[in-house]
Amino acid sequence: MTVEHECNLCGSHALTELIDFGSHPVSKHYLESPTEQPPVWPVRLFFCDDCGLTQLVDSCPPEILYANYVTISAWKFQPHVSHQINMIKALKGIASDSKIIEIGCNDGEFLREMSVAGFKNTFGVEPAQDAFDLAIGKGIDVMQEFLTPELAKSIAATRGQFDLFLTRQNLEHISDLRGVAQSIQTLVKPGGYVLIEVPNFSCNLRCQDYSLWEEHVNYFTLDTLRHFMTLAGVEMIHDEVFVFSGEGIFVLGRKVESVPLSLDYLPALRQQNMDYAAYWPTFKSDVNNYLGDLKKAGKKIAVYGAGARVYCLLNFADMAGNIDIIVDDQPEKQNKFMPGGRLPVKPSDALYDDSIDVCLLAVNTENEEKVLKRHAKWISEGGQFWSVLPPSYRLLPVWKEHV
Ligand SMILES: [Zn+2]
Repeated sequence: MTVEHECNLCGSHALTELIDFGSHPVSKHYLESPTEQPPVWPVRLFFCDDCGLTQLVDSCPPEILYANYVTISAWKFQPHVSHQINMIKALKGIASDSKIIEIGCNDGEFLREMSVAGFKNTFGVEPAQDAFDLAIGKGIDVMQEFLTPELAKSIAATRGQFDLFLTRQNLEHISDLRGVAQSIQTLVKPGGYVLIEVPNFSCNLRCQDYSLWEEHVNYFTLDTLRHFMTLAGVEMIHDEVFVFSGEGIFVLGRKVESVPLSLDYLPALRQQNMDYAAYWPTFKSDVNNYLGDLKKAGKKIAVYGAGARVYCLLNFADMAGNIDIIVDDQPEKQNKFMPGGRLPVKPSDALYDDSIDVCLLAVNTENEEKVLKRHAKWISEGGQFWSVLPPSYRLLPVWKEHV
Protein backbone atom coordinates (compact mmCIF):
# COMPACT_ATOMS: atom_id res chain seq x y z
CA MET A 1 0.00 0.00 0.00
CA THR A 2 1.24 3.50 -0.77
CA VAL A 3 0.83 6.04 2.01
CA GLU A 4 1.63 9.71 2.35
CA HIS A 5 4.23 8.95 5.02
CA GLU A 6 7.82 8.62 3.82
CA CYS A 7 9.80 5.79 5.42
CA ASN A 8 11.95 7.31 8.18
CA LEU A 9 14.95 5.30 7.03
CA CYS A 10 14.85 4.95 3.22
CA GLY A 11 12.23 7.51 2.14
CA SER A 12 10.05 4.94 0.36
CA HIS A 13 6.26 5.34 0.18
CA ALA A 14 5.78 1.55 -0.09
CA LEU A 15 4.62 0.78 3.44
CA THR A 16 2.33 -1.97 4.71
CA GLU A 17 -0.01 -1.34 7.64
CA LEU A 18 0.61 -3.80 10.48
CA ILE A 19 -1.61 -2.63 13.36
CA ASP A 20 -3.96 0.31 13.88
CA PHE A 21 -4.01 0.67 17.69
CA GLY A 22 -6.56 3.52 17.59
CA SER A 23 -6.24 7.00 19.10
CA HIS A 24 -4.95 7.45 22.65
CA PRO A 25 -3.63 10.12 25.02
CA VAL A 26 0.18 10.16 25.16
CA SER A 27 1.51 7.89 27.88
CA LYS A 28 3.52 10.45 29.85
CA HIS A 29 0.55 12.74 30.33
CA TYR A 30 -0.50 11.64 33.84
CA LEU A 31 -3.87 13.06 34.85
CA GLU A 32 -4.41 15.16 37.96
CA SER A 33 -8.05 14.05 38.13
CA PRO A 34 -9.95 11.13 36.54
CA THR A 35 -12.17 13.53 34.59
CA GLU A 36 -9.35 15.46 32.89
CA GLN A 37 -9.53 15.25 29.05
CA PRO A 38 -6.02 14.88 27.63
CA PRO A 39 -5.35 15.29 23.88
CA VAL A 40 -5.40 12.01 21.91
CA TRP A 41 -3.22 10.92 19.02
CA PRO A 42 -3.45 8.07 16.45
CA VAL A 43 -1.05 5.15 16.82
CA ARG A 44 -0.55 3.15 13.60
CA LEU A 45 2.32 0.75 13.02
CA PHE A 46 3.63 0.17 9.48
CA PHE A 47 6.35 -1.93 7.84
CA CYS A 48 8.54 -0.51 5.06
CA ASP A 49 8.55 -2.90 2.08
CA ASP A 50 11.83 -1.45 0.80
CA CYS A 51 14.09 -1.42 3.89
CA GLY A 52 12.19 -3.40 6.55
CA LEU A 53 12.00 -0.66 9.19
CA THR A 54 8.89 -0.99 11.37
CA GLN A 55 7.63 2.48 12.30
CA LEU A 56 4.76 4.60 13.59
CA VAL A 57 3.50 6.85 10.83
CA ASP A 58 1.69 9.54 12.85
CA SER A 59 4.47 11.33 14.67
CA CYS A 60 2.98 13.19 17.60
CA PRO A 61 3.84 16.94 17.84
CA PRO A 62 6.62 17.46 20.41
CA GLU A 63 4.53 20.03 22.35
CA ILE A 64 2.00 17.24 23.11
CA LEU A 65 4.55 14.44 23.46
CA TYR A 66 6.99 16.15 25.76
CA ALA A 67 4.57 18.16 27.92
CA ASN A 68 5.13 17.14 31.59
CA TYR A 69 8.06 14.97 30.56
CA VAL A 70 9.34 13.13 33.65
CA THR A 71 11.92 10.54 32.58
CA ILE A 72 15.54 11.26 33.33
CA SER A 73 18.08 8.59 32.40
CA ALA A 74 19.82 8.48 35.79
CA TRP A 75 16.57 7.15 37.29
CA LYS A 76 17.04 3.91 35.44
CA PHE A 77 19.57 1.36 36.57
CA GLN A 78 21.80 0.79 33.49
CA PRO A 79 24.03 -2.21 34.17
CA HIS A 80 25.44 -2.24 30.62
CA VAL A 81 27.09 1.20 30.84
CA SER A 82 30.40 0.08 32.38
CA HIS A 83 30.64 -2.73 29.80
CA GLN A 84 30.21 -0.22 26.96
CA ILE A 85 32.83 2.11 28.42
CA ASN A 86 35.30 -0.76 28.75
CA MET A 87 34.70 -1.64 25.10
CA ILE A 88 35.29 1.98 24.07
CA LYS A 89 38.57 2.04 26.03
CA ALA A 90 39.72 -1.09 24.22
CA LEU A 91 39.11 0.34 20.70
CA LYS A 92 42.26 0.65 18.65
CA GLY A 93 43.20 4.33 18.27
CA ILE A 94 40.94 5.54 21.11
CA ALA A 95 42.78 7.26 23.97
CA SER A 96 41.89 9.55 26.90
CA ASP A 97 42.25 12.65 24.67
CA SER A 98 40.06 11.27 21.83
CA LYS A 99 37.28 13.61 20.72
CA ILE A 100 33.88 12.20 21.64
CA ILE A 101 30.39 13.48 20.82
CA GLU A 102 27.10 12.16 22.21
CA ILE A 103 23.83 13.08 20.51
CA GLY A 104 20.76 13.07 22.79
CA CYS A 105 23.01 12.94 25.84
CA ASN A 106 20.01 13.46 28.17
CA ASP A 107 21.20 14.47 31.67
CA GLY A 108 24.85 13.83 30.72
CA GLU A 109 25.14 10.73 32.87
CA PHE A 110 26.97 8.60 30.26
CA LEU A 111 29.45 11.42 29.50
CA ARG A 112 29.99 11.88 33.24
CA GLU A 113 30.82 8.15 33.49
CA MET A 114 33.13 8.57 30.50
CA SER A 115 35.00 11.36 32.27
CA VAL A 116 35.27 9.24 35.42
CA ALA A 117 36.83 6.59 33.13
CA GLY A 118 39.47 9.14 32.06
CA PHE A 119 38.10 10.64 28.83
CA LYS A 120 38.87 14.37 28.81
CA ASN A 121 37.42 15.56 25.52
CA THR A 122 33.68 14.92 25.50
CA PHE A 123 30.83 17.00 24.13
CA GLY A 124 27.06 16.47 24.30
CA VAL A 125 24.04 17.70 22.33
CA GLU A 126 20.63 17.59 24.03
CA PRO A 127 17.42 19.39 23.00
CA ALA A 128 15.27 18.97 26.17
CA GLN A 129 15.52 21.86 28.62
CA ASP A 130 15.32 19.90 31.91
CA ALA A 131 17.85 17.25 30.78
CA PHE A 132 20.16 19.96 29.40
CA ASP A 133 20.03 21.85 32.73
CA LEU A 134 20.97 18.68 34.63
CA ALA A 135 23.90 18.03 32.26
CA ILE A 136 25.14 21.60 32.77
CA GLY A 137 24.86 21.07 36.53
CA LYS A 138 27.22 18.11 36.22
CA GLY A 139 29.82 20.24 34.46
CA ILE A 140 29.30 18.52 31.07
CA ASP A 141 30.25 20.44 27.88
CA VAL A 142 26.79 20.38 26.29
CA MET A 143 24.82 22.31 23.65
CA GLN A 144 21.01 22.61 23.69
CA GLU A 145 19.96 21.75 20.12
CA PHE A 146 18.21 19.16 17.92
CA LEU A 147 20.73 17.44 15.66
CA THR A 148 20.27 18.43 12.00
CA PRO A 149 22.69 18.12 9.07
CA GLU A 150 23.14 21.94 9.28
CA LEU A 151 24.00 21.79 12.98
CA ALA A 152 26.45 18.92 12.27
CA LYS A 153 28.21 21.12 9.70
CA SER A 154 28.50 24.02 12.12
CA ILE A 155 29.81 21.76 14.93
CA ALA A 156 32.37 20.20 12.55
CA ALA A 157 33.43 23.69 11.42
CA THR A 158 34.02 24.97 14.95
CA ARG A 159 35.17 21.82 16.75
CA GLY A 160 36.51 19.62 13.95
CA GLN A 161 35.53 15.97 13.39
CA PHE A 162 35.24 13.38 16.18
CA ASP A 163 36.95 10.07 16.93
CA LEU A 164 33.78 8.61 18.41
CA PHE A 165 30.09 9.39 17.85
CA LEU A 166 27.67 8.07 20.47
CA THR A 167 23.92 7.91 20.48
CA ARG A 168 22.11 5.81 23.06
CA GLN A 169 18.35 5.17 23.24
CA ASN A 170 17.84 8.08 20.88
CA LEU A 171 17.50 6.96 17.22
CA GLU A 172 14.16 5.28 17.98
CA HIS A 173 12.72 8.78 18.65
CA ILE A 174 13.90 10.48 15.43
CA SER A 175 11.78 10.60 12.26
CA ASP A 176 14.55 12.04 10.10
CA LEU A 177 16.99 9.12 10.22
CA ARG A 178 18.52 10.10 6.89
CA GLY A 179 19.41 13.47 8.43
CA VAL A 180 21.17 11.68 11.29
CA ALA A 181 23.05 9.42 8.84
CA GLN A 182 24.18 12.52 6.94
CA SER A 183 25.25 14.16 10.23
CA ILE A 184 27.36 11.12 11.13
CA GLN A 185 29.10 11.40 7.75
CA THR A 186 29.92 15.03 8.60
CA LEU A 187 30.90 14.60 12.24
CA VAL A 188 33.01 11.43 12.26
CA LYS A 189 36.65 11.30 11.15
CA PRO A 190 37.58 8.72 8.49
CA GLY A 191 38.27 5.54 10.48
CA GLY A 192 36.39 7.00 13.49
CA TYR A 193 33.93 4.96 15.53
CA VAL A 194 30.17 5.03 16.01
CA LEU A 195 28.37 3.51 19.02
CA ILE A 196 24.61 3.12 18.82
CA GLU A 197 22.17 1.68 21.32
CA VAL A 198 18.47 1.16 20.52
CA PRO A 199 15.63 -1.06 21.81
CA ASN A 200 15.55 -4.44 20.06
CA PHE A 201 12.28 -4.91 18.14
CA SER A 202 13.26 -8.55 17.46
CA CYS A 203 12.37 -9.13 21.13
CA ASN A 204 8.85 -7.74 20.51
CA LEU A 205 8.48 -9.95 17.43
CA ARG A 206 9.67 -13.03 19.30
CA CYS A 207 7.72 -12.43 22.54
CA GLN A 208 4.45 -11.06 21.06
CA ASP A 209 5.29 -7.87 22.94
CA TYR A 210 2.92 -5.06 21.93
CA SER A 211 4.05 -2.63 24.63
CA LEU A 212 5.15 -0.03 22.10
CA TRP A 213 5.57 3.59 23.01
CA GLU A 214 4.31 6.47 20.87
CA GLU A 215 7.56 8.32 21.57
CA HIS A 216 9.41 5.57 19.72
CA VAL A 217 8.67 6.10 16.06
CA ASN A 218 11.31 3.59 14.85
CA TYR A 219 11.46 -0.11 15.77
CA PHE A 220 14.90 -1.43 14.82
CA THR A 221 16.19 -4.96 14.47
CA LEU A 222 19.89 -5.66 14.06
CA ASP A 223 19.38 -5.78 10.26
CA THR A 224 17.60 -2.46 9.95
CA LEU A 225 20.14 -0.85 12.29
CA ARG A 226 22.92 -2.15 10.03
CA HIS A 227 21.01 -0.66 7.08
CA PHE A 228 20.99 2.72 8.88
CA MET A 229 24.74 2.51 9.54
CA THR A 230 25.38 1.68 5.89
CA LEU A 231 23.60 4.91 4.91
CA ALA A 232 25.95 6.72 7.32
CA GLY A 233 29.02 5.12 5.69
CA VAL A 234 29.67 3.03 8.79
CA GLU A 235 30.58 -0.65 8.82
CA MET A 236 29.29 -2.64 11.80
CA ILE A 237 32.20 -4.26 13.65
CA HIS A 238 30.47 -5.48 16.81
CA ASP A 239 26.92 -6.18 17.95
CA GLU A 240 25.28 -7.52 21.07
CA VAL A 241 21.87 -7.80 22.67
CA PHE A 242 21.31 -7.01 26.34
CA VAL A 243 18.37 -6.82 28.74
CA PHE A 244 17.33 -3.25 29.58
CA SER A 245 13.72 -1.95 29.37
CA GLY A 246 12.98 -5.10 27.39
CA GLU A 247 15.92 -5.87 25.15
CA GLY A 248 18.43 -3.47 23.68
CA ILE A 249 20.90 -3.74 20.81
CA PHE A 250 24.30 -2.15 21.17
CA VAL A 251 26.52 -1.89 18.10
CA LEU A 252 29.91 -0.47 17.27
CA GLY A 253 30.85 0.59 13.77
CA ARG A 254 33.69 2.21 11.94
CA LYS A 255 33.53 4.87 9.24
CA VAL A 256 34.87 3.48 5.97
CA GLU A 257 35.06 4.54 2.30
CA SER A 258 32.03 2.48 1.27
CA VAL A 259 29.84 -0.27 2.74
CA PRO A 260 27.82 -2.66 0.53
CA LEU A 261 24.05 -2.53 1.18
CA SER A 262 22.42 -5.96 1.49
CA LEU A 263 18.66 -6.49 1.69
CA ASP A 264 18.81 -10.29 2.03
CA TYR A 265 17.07 -10.03 5.40
CA LEU A 266 13.87 -8.47 3.99
CA PRO A 267 11.67 -11.52 3.20
CA ALA A 268 12.16 -13.16 6.63
CA LEU A 269 11.73 -9.87 8.51
CA ARG A 270 8.57 -9.12 6.55
CA GLN A 271 7.10 -12.51 7.48
CA GLN A 272 7.90 -11.98 11.19
CA ASN A 273 6.18 -8.58 11.07
CA MET A 274 3.10 -10.02 9.34
CA ASP A 275 2.86 -12.83 11.93
CA TYR A 276 3.20 -10.27 14.76
CA ALA A 277 0.36 -8.17 13.30
CA ALA A 278 -1.85 -11.22 12.65
CA TYR A 279 -1.58 -12.37 16.29
CA TRP A 280 -2.60 -9.01 17.81
CA PRO A 281 -6.43 -9.61 17.96
CA THR A 282 -5.92 -13.07 19.51
CA PHE A 283 -3.44 -11.66 22.02
CA LYS A 284 -5.95 -9.02 23.11
CA SER A 285 -8.78 -11.48 23.62
CA ASP A 286 -6.60 -14.16 25.29
CA VAL A 287 -5.16 -11.78 27.87
CA ASN A 288 -8.48 -10.07 28.58
CA ASN A 289 -10.35 -13.37 28.90
CA TYR A 290 -7.72 -14.56 31.37
CA LEU A 291 -7.94 -11.39 33.48
CA GLY A 292 -11.75 -11.33 33.12
CA ASP A 293 -11.95 -14.87 34.59
CA LEU A 294 -9.83 -13.75 37.57
CA LYS A 295 -12.20 -10.80 38.12
CA LYS A 296 -15.24 -13.10 37.93
CA ALA A 297 -13.59 -15.24 40.60
CA GLY A 298 -13.56 -12.13 42.83
CA LYS A 299 -9.83 -11.36 42.55
CA LYS A 300 -8.54 -7.80 42.80
CA ILE A 301 -5.84 -7.00 40.24
CA ALA A 302 -3.12 -4.35 40.36
CA VAL A 303 -0.38 -3.37 37.94
CA TYR A 304 3.05 -2.64 39.44
CA GLY A 305 4.77 0.23 37.56
CA ALA A 306 3.11 3.23 35.89
CA GLY A 307 5.47 3.27 32.91
CA ALA A 308 4.97 3.89 29.22
CA ARG A 309 5.24 0.27 28.11
CA VAL A 310 2.40 -0.99 30.31
CA TYR A 311 0.38 2.09 29.49
CA CYS A 312 0.28 0.87 25.89
CA LEU A 313 -0.94 -2.56 26.93
CA LEU A 314 -3.63 -1.13 29.21
CA ASN A 315 -4.95 1.16 26.51
CA PHE A 316 -4.17 -0.40 23.14
CA ALA A 317 -5.28 -3.85 24.36
CA ASP A 318 -8.20 -2.51 26.46
CA MET A 319 -6.79 -4.23 29.56
CA ALA A 320 -7.52 -1.28 31.85
CA GLY A 321 -11.14 -2.43 32.42
CA ASN A 322 -9.86 -5.56 34.17
CA ILE A 323 -7.43 -3.70 36.48
CA ASP A 324 -8.31 -2.12 39.85
CA ILE A 325 -5.28 0.06 40.59
CA ILE A 326 -1.74 0.88 39.50
CA VAL A 327 1.02 0.97 42.11
CA ASP A 328 4.33 2.77 41.62
CA ASP A 329 7.24 3.56 43.94
CA GLN A 330 8.06 6.90 42.25
CA PRO A 331 6.43 9.69 44.34
CA GLU A 332 6.17 11.90 41.19
CA LYS A 333 3.56 9.52 39.76
CA GLN A 334 1.57 8.80 42.91
CA ASN A 335 -1.88 10.31 43.50
CA LYS A 336 -2.23 10.86 39.76
CA PHE A 337 -4.22 8.87 37.20
CA MET A 338 -2.92 6.89 34.24
CA PRO A 339 -4.09 8.51 31.00
CA GLY A 340 -6.54 6.46 28.93
CA GLY A 341 -7.77 3.90 31.46
CA ARG A 342 -7.85 6.61 34.20
CA LEU A 343 -6.66 4.17 36.85
CA PRO A 344 -5.39 5.66 40.12
CA VAL A 345 -1.64 5.43 40.81
CA LYS A 346 -0.89 4.56 44.46
CA PRO A 347 2.21 3.72 46.52
CA SER A 348 2.97 -0.01 46.59
CA ASP A 349 1.63 -0.32 50.17
CA ALA A 350 -1.74 -0.39 48.41
CA LEU A 351 -1.07 -4.08 47.64
CA TYR A 352 -1.88 -4.65 51.34
CA ASP A 353 -4.27 -1.73 51.99
CA ASP A 354 -6.47 -2.46 48.95
CA SER A 355 -6.37 -6.27 49.48
CA ILE A 356 -4.91 -6.97 46.03
CA ASP A 357 -4.81 -10.68 45.05
CA VAL A 358 -2.94 -10.59 41.74
CA CYS A 359 -0.28 -8.09 40.71
CA LEU A 360 0.97 -7.71 37.13
CA LEU A 361 4.63 -6.70 37.16
CA ALA A 362 5.28 -3.89 34.71
CA VAL A 363 8.77 -2.98 35.83
CA ASN A 364 11.77 -3.69 33.65
CA THR A 365 12.75 -7.35 33.76
CA GLU A 366 16.07 -6.55 35.46
CA ASN A 367 14.19 -4.92 38.40
CA GLU A 368 11.61 -7.66 39.04
CA GLU A 369 13.66 -9.44 41.71
CA LYS A 370 13.91 -6.24 43.76
CA VAL A 371 10.12 -5.85 43.77
CA LEU A 372 9.58 -9.48 44.74
CA LYS A 373 12.01 -9.10 47.63
CA ARG A 374 10.38 -5.87 48.81
CA HIS A 375 6.95 -7.52 48.88
CA ALA A 376 7.93 -10.95 50.20
CA LYS A 377 5.33 -10.47 52.96
CA TRP A 378 2.53 -9.90 50.42
CA ILE A 379 3.61 -13.06 48.55
CA SER A 380 3.71 -15.05 51.80
CA GLU A 381 0.12 -13.93 52.47
CA GLY A 382 -0.98 -15.44 49.15
CA GLY A 383 -0.29 -12.54 46.74
CA GLN A 384 0.53 -13.65 43.19
CA PHE A 385 2.94 -11.79 40.87
CA TRP A 386 2.92 -12.25 37.08
CA SER A 387 4.83 -10.17 34.57
CA VAL A 388 3.38 -8.34 31.56
CA LEU A 389 6.66 -7.08 30.13
CA PRO A 390 8.80 -9.45 28.03
CA PRO A 391 11.44 -10.86 28.10
CA SER A 392 10.53 -11.81 31.72
CA TYR A 393 10.11 -15.54 32.33
CA ARG A 394 7.27 -14.67 34.75
CA LEU A 395 4.91 -13.69 31.90
CA LEU A 396 1.20 -14.42 32.42
CA PRO A 397 0.63 -18.14 31.70
CA VAL A 398 -1.81 -17.40 28.84
CA TRP A 399 0.88 -15.25 27.21
CA LYS A 400 3.80 -17.56 27.82
CA GLU A 401 2.03 -20.33 25.87
CA HIS A 402 2.51 -18.28 22.69
CA VAL A 403 6.08 -17.14 23.19
ZN1 LIG B 1 12.24 2.12 4.31
